[in-house]
Amino acid sequence: MIHIKTREEIELMRESALIVSKTLGMLAAEVKPGVTTLYLDKLAEEFIRAEGAEPGFLGLYDFPNTLCMSPNAQVVHGIPNNEPLKEGDIISIDCGALKNGFYGDHAYTFAVGKITDDVQRLLDITRASLYVGIEQFRVNNRVGDVGYAIQKFTEDAGYGVVRELVGHGLGRIMHEEPEMPNYGRRGRGKKFVEGMVVAIEPMTNMGTKNIKQLKDGWTILTADGKPSAHFEHDVAIINGAPEILSTFDYVHEVLGIKTDEEAPYKKTAH
Ligand code: MG
Ligand code: MG
Repeated sequence: MIHIKTREEIELMRESALIVSKTLGMLAAEVKPGVTTLYLDKLAEEFIRAEGAEPGFLGLYDFPNTLCMSPNAQVVHGIPNNEPLKEGDIISIDCGALKNGFYGDHAYTFAVGKITDDVQRLLDITRASLYVGIEQFRVNNRVGDVGYAIQKFTEDAGYGVVRELVGHGLGRIMHEEPEMPNYGRRGRGKKFVEGMVVAIEPMTNMGTKNIKQLKDGWTILTADGKPSAHFEHDVAIINGAPEILSTFDYVHEVLGIKTDEEAPYKKTAH
Protein backbone atom coordinates (compact mmCIF):
# COMPACT_ATOMS: atom_id res chain seq x y z
CA MET A 1 0.00 0.00 0.00
CA ILE A 2 1.02 3.61 -0.53
CA HIS A 3 1.61 5.59 2.69
CA ILE A 4 0.26 9.11 2.25
CA LYS A 5 2.04 11.70 4.40
CA THR A 6 0.56 14.58 6.37
CA ARG A 7 2.05 18.08 6.03
CA GLU A 8 3.74 17.56 9.41
CA GLU A 9 5.26 14.30 8.27
CA ILE A 10 6.46 15.91 5.05
CA GLU A 11 8.24 18.59 7.09
CA LEU A 12 10.04 15.86 9.05
CA MET A 13 10.95 14.20 5.76
CA ARG A 14 12.32 17.51 4.49
CA GLU A 15 14.59 17.58 7.55
CA SER A 16 15.93 14.09 6.77
CA ALA A 17 16.34 14.91 3.08
CA LEU A 18 18.26 18.10 3.85
CA ILE A 19 20.68 16.23 6.09
CA VAL A 20 21.52 14.11 3.05
CA SER A 21 21.76 17.26 0.90
CA LYS A 22 24.25 18.80 3.33
CA THR A 23 26.21 15.56 3.49
CA LEU A 24 26.54 15.55 -0.31
CA GLY A 25 27.58 19.21 -0.15
CA MET A 26 30.28 18.34 2.39
CA LEU A 27 31.48 15.50 0.16
CA ALA A 28 31.55 17.75 -2.92
CA ALA A 29 34.55 19.53 -1.42
CA GLU A 30 36.31 16.24 -0.65
CA VAL A 31 35.90 14.35 -3.94
CA LYS A 32 39.28 14.60 -5.71
CA PRO A 33 41.98 12.39 -7.18
CA GLY A 34 43.80 10.28 -4.56
CA VAL A 35 40.90 10.12 -2.07
CA THR A 36 39.41 6.72 -1.27
CA THR A 37 35.70 6.02 -1.19
CA LEU A 38 36.12 4.45 2.25
CA TYR A 39 37.56 7.73 3.57
CA LEU A 40 34.57 9.62 2.13
CA ASP A 41 32.26 7.06 3.72
CA LYS A 42 33.74 7.71 7.17
CA LEU A 43 33.38 11.48 6.71
CA ALA A 44 29.74 11.02 5.74
CA GLU A 45 28.95 8.79 8.70
CA GLU A 46 30.45 11.29 11.16
CA PHE A 47 28.64 14.18 9.47
CA ILE A 48 25.24 12.46 9.55
CA ARG A 49 25.60 11.49 13.22
CA ALA A 50 26.67 15.05 14.09
CA GLU A 51 23.38 16.20 12.52
CA GLY A 52 21.52 14.01 15.01
CA ALA A 53 20.58 11.40 12.40
CA GLU A 54 21.51 7.80 11.65
CA PRO A 55 23.08 6.67 8.38
CA GLY A 56 20.10 5.38 6.42
CA PHE A 57 21.88 2.64 4.46
CA LEU A 58 24.21 1.24 7.14
CA GLY A 59 22.83 -2.21 7.99
CA LEU A 60 19.81 -1.79 5.70
CA TYR A 61 19.40 -5.19 4.00
CA ASP A 62 22.85 -5.78 5.63
CA PHE A 63 24.57 -3.11 3.50
CA PRO A 64 27.98 -2.61 5.19
CA ASN A 65 28.49 1.18 4.84
CA THR A 66 26.98 4.65 5.02
CA LEU A 67 27.35 5.48 1.31
CA CYS A 68 26.80 3.57 -1.89
CA MET A 69 29.88 4.54 -3.92
CA SER A 70 29.69 3.60 -7.58
CA PRO A 71 32.57 4.78 -9.79
CA ASN A 72 32.57 4.85 -13.61
CA ALA A 73 30.88 1.71 -14.99
CA GLN A 74 29.24 0.96 -11.65
CA VAL A 75 25.58 1.97 -11.74
CA VAL A 76 24.56 1.80 -8.07
CA HIS A 77 25.14 -0.08 -4.79
CA GLY A 78 28.95 -0.01 -4.98
CA ILE A 79 30.69 -0.69 -1.67
CA PRO A 80 33.29 1.85 -0.44
CA ASN A 81 36.87 0.58 -0.56
CA ASN A 82 40.52 1.63 -0.27
CA GLU A 83 41.10 2.24 -3.96
CA PRO A 84 41.92 5.93 -4.60
CA LEU A 85 39.80 7.87 -7.07
CA LYS A 86 41.66 8.94 -10.21
CA GLU A 87 41.60 12.06 -12.35
CA GLY A 88 38.88 11.61 -14.98
CA ASP A 89 36.76 9.20 -12.93
CA ILE A 90 33.14 9.81 -12.07
CA ILE A 91 31.71 8.70 -8.75
CA SER A 92 28.01 8.25 -8.03
CA ILE A 93 27.37 8.82 -4.34
CA ASP A 94 24.04 7.66 -2.92
CA CYS A 95 23.33 8.61 0.68
CA GLY A 96 20.56 7.96 3.19
CA ALA A 97 19.75 9.48 6.58
CA LEU A 98 17.16 8.48 9.18
CA LYS A 99 15.81 11.09 11.61
CA ASN A 100 12.52 11.33 13.51
CA GLY A 101 11.61 7.96 12.02
CA PHE A 102 11.77 9.16 8.41
CA TYR A 103 14.31 8.50 5.68
CA GLY A 104 16.02 10.89 3.33
CA ASP A 105 17.63 9.28 0.26
CA HIS A 106 19.36 11.07 -2.55
CA ALA A 107 22.27 10.85 -4.89
CA TYR A 108 24.64 12.84 -7.10
CA THR A 109 27.29 11.83 -9.62
CA PHE A 110 30.52 13.81 -9.22
CA ALA A 111 33.39 14.39 -11.62
CA VAL A 112 36.83 13.59 -10.17
CA GLY A 113 39.08 16.33 -11.50
CA LYS A 114 38.74 16.90 -15.25
CA ILE A 115 36.46 14.52 -17.17
CA THR A 116 35.90 14.16 -20.91
CA ASP A 117 33.15 16.10 -22.69
CA ASP A 118 31.37 12.81 -23.46
CA VAL A 119 31.14 11.87 -19.81
CA GLN A 120 30.17 15.41 -18.78
CA ARG A 121 27.26 15.20 -21.24
CA LEU A 122 26.15 11.93 -19.62
CA LEU A 123 26.07 13.68 -16.22
CA ASP A 124 24.26 16.73 -17.60
CA ILE A 125 21.61 14.69 -19.42
CA THR A 126 21.00 12.41 -16.45
CA ARG A 127 20.60 15.34 -14.06
CA ALA A 128 18.28 17.10 -16.52
CA SER A 129 16.21 13.92 -16.89
CA LEU A 130 15.56 13.95 -13.15
CA TYR A 131 13.68 17.26 -13.47
CA VAL A 132 11.87 16.07 -16.61
CA GLY A 133 10.55 13.24 -14.43
CA ILE A 134 9.78 15.44 -11.42
CA GLU A 135 7.66 17.72 -13.61
CA GLN A 136 5.28 14.79 -14.20
CA PHE A 137 4.91 13.91 -10.49
CA ARG A 138 1.63 15.71 -9.85
CA VAL A 139 -1.95 14.89 -8.87
CA ASN A 140 -3.87 12.88 -11.46
CA ASN A 141 -0.74 11.85 -13.38
CA ARG A 142 0.46 8.26 -13.07
CA VAL A 143 3.67 6.35 -12.44
CA GLY A 144 4.01 5.70 -16.18
CA ASP A 145 3.99 9.43 -16.95
CA VAL A 146 7.17 9.98 -14.93
CA GLY A 147 8.84 6.89 -16.39
CA TYR A 148 7.86 7.74 -19.95
CA ALA A 149 9.19 11.30 -19.66
CA ILE A 150 12.56 10.20 -18.28
CA GLN A 151 12.91 7.36 -20.79
CA LYS A 152 12.06 9.52 -23.82
CA PHE A 153 14.42 12.32 -22.79
CA THR A 154 17.25 9.87 -22.06
CA GLU A 155 16.86 7.67 -25.13
CA ASP A 156 16.50 10.73 -27.40
CA ALA A 157 19.94 11.72 -26.08
CA GLY A 158 21.28 8.32 -27.14
CA TYR A 159 21.65 6.69 -23.73
CA GLY A 160 20.42 3.49 -22.08
CA VAL A 161 17.83 3.50 -19.28
CA VAL A 162 18.44 0.86 -16.63
CA ARG A 163 15.34 -1.32 -16.19
CA GLU A 164 16.15 -3.51 -13.20
CA LEU A 165 16.54 -0.70 -10.64
CA VAL A 166 13.87 1.89 -9.94
CA GLY A 167 12.85 4.82 -7.76
CA HIS A 168 10.39 4.26 -4.95
CA GLY A 169 8.01 5.61 -2.37
CA LEU A 170 9.85 6.95 0.69
CA GLY A 171 8.87 7.44 4.33
CA ARG A 172 9.25 5.45 7.53
CA ILE A 173 10.51 2.68 5.27
CA MET A 174 13.31 3.26 2.76
CA HIS A 175 11.57 1.49 -0.09
CA GLU A 176 7.81 1.99 0.00
CA GLU A 177 5.27 1.64 -2.77
CA PRO A 178 4.96 2.65 -5.49
CA GLU A 179 7.95 1.56 -7.53
CA MET A 180 9.01 4.45 -9.80
CA PRO A 181 10.67 3.06 -12.94
CA ASN A 182 12.66 5.36 -15.21
CA TYR A 183 10.81 3.93 -18.20
CA GLY A 184 7.15 3.36 -18.89
CA ARG A 185 4.01 4.20 -20.79
CA ARG A 186 1.96 7.36 -20.43
CA GLY A 187 -1.25 7.03 -18.45
CA ARG A 188 -0.28 3.66 -16.95
CA GLY A 189 0.34 2.62 -13.37
CA LYS A 190 -0.68 4.01 -9.98
CA LYS A 191 -2.31 7.43 -9.92
CA PHE A 192 -0.57 10.17 -7.91
CA VAL A 193 -2.40 11.83 -5.02
CA GLU A 194 -1.76 14.69 -2.59
CA GLY A 195 0.76 13.80 0.14
CA MET A 196 2.71 11.14 -1.77
CA VAL A 197 6.48 11.22 -1.28
CA VAL A 198 8.81 9.39 -3.65
CA ALA A 199 12.47 9.15 -4.55
CA ILE A 200 12.90 9.75 -8.29
CA GLU A 201 16.29 8.47 -9.43
CA PRO A 202 17.29 8.04 -13.07
CA MET A 203 20.19 5.64 -13.62
CA THR A 204 21.56 6.29 -17.09
CA ASN A 205 24.14 4.31 -19.04
CA MET A 206 26.27 5.82 -21.78
CA GLY A 207 25.94 2.59 -23.76
CA THR A 208 23.71 -0.43 -23.33
CA LYS A 209 20.88 -0.38 -20.79
CA ASN A 210 21.94 -3.86 -19.70
CA ILE A 211 23.62 -4.44 -16.37
CA LYS A 212 25.36 -7.16 -14.42
CA GLN A 213 26.10 -7.70 -10.74
CA LEU A 214 29.43 -8.38 -9.05
CA LYS A 215 29.89 -11.47 -6.89
CA ASP A 216 29.81 -9.23 -3.78
CA GLY A 217 26.02 -9.42 -4.13
CA TRP A 218 25.72 -5.62 -4.24
CA THR A 219 27.60 -3.81 -6.98
CA ILE A 220 25.63 -3.24 -10.17
CA LEU A 221 27.64 -2.30 -13.26
CA THR A 222 27.02 -1.75 -16.94
CA ALA A 223 27.24 -4.86 -19.10
CA ASP A 224 29.47 -3.08 -21.65
CA GLY A 225 31.81 -1.39 -19.17
CA LYS A 226 30.80 2.12 -20.27
CA PRO A 227 30.08 4.79 -17.63
CA SER A 228 26.77 5.23 -15.81
CA ALA A 229 25.32 8.19 -13.90
CA HIS A 230 22.76 8.48 -11.09
CA PHE A 231 20.92 11.50 -9.71
CA GLU A 232 18.14 11.28 -7.09
CA HIS A 233 15.77 13.68 -5.33
CA ASP A 234 13.06 13.19 -2.69
CA VAL A 235 9.83 14.76 -3.92
CA ALA A 236 6.42 15.34 -2.30
CA ILE A 237 3.11 16.31 -3.87
CA ILE A 238 1.93 19.50 -2.15
CA ASN A 239 -1.03 21.49 -3.46
CA GLY A 240 -1.19 19.04 -6.32
CA ALA A 241 2.31 19.78 -7.61
CA PRO A 242 5.83 18.42 -7.08
CA GLU A 243 7.95 19.92 -4.31
CA ILE A 244 11.57 18.77 -3.97
CA LEU A 245 12.41 18.09 -0.31
CA SER A 246 16.12 17.58 -1.01
CA THR A 247 18.39 20.03 -2.87
CA PHE A 248 21.62 20.03 -4.84
CA ASP A 249 22.23 23.65 -3.78
CA TYR A 250 24.94 22.67 -1.26
CA VAL A 251 26.76 20.61 -3.90
CA HIS A 252 26.42 23.23 -6.59
CA GLU A 253 27.66 25.99 -4.30
CA VAL A 254 30.89 24.01 -3.79
CA LEU A 255 31.21 23.10 -7.47
CA GLY A 256 30.38 26.62 -8.69
CA ILE A 257 27.43 25.38 -10.76
CA LYS A 258 24.75 28.02 -11.28
CA THR A 259 21.33 26.64 -12.22
CA ASP A 260 17.69 27.43 -11.55
CA GLU A 261 16.51 23.90 -12.36
CA GLU A 262 15.07 23.32 -8.86
CA ALA A 263 13.36 26.72 -8.65
CA PRO A 264 9.89 25.65 -9.93
CA TYR A 265 9.80 22.86 -7.35
CA LYS A 266 10.98 24.69 -4.23
CA LYS A 267 8.75 25.32 -1.22
CA THR A 268 8.79 29.04 -2.00
CA ALA A 269 7.42 28.37 -5.53
CA HIS A 270 4.05 27.28 -4.17
MG1 MG B 1 19.36 6.55 -3.08
MG1 MG C 1 16.40 5.67 -3.65
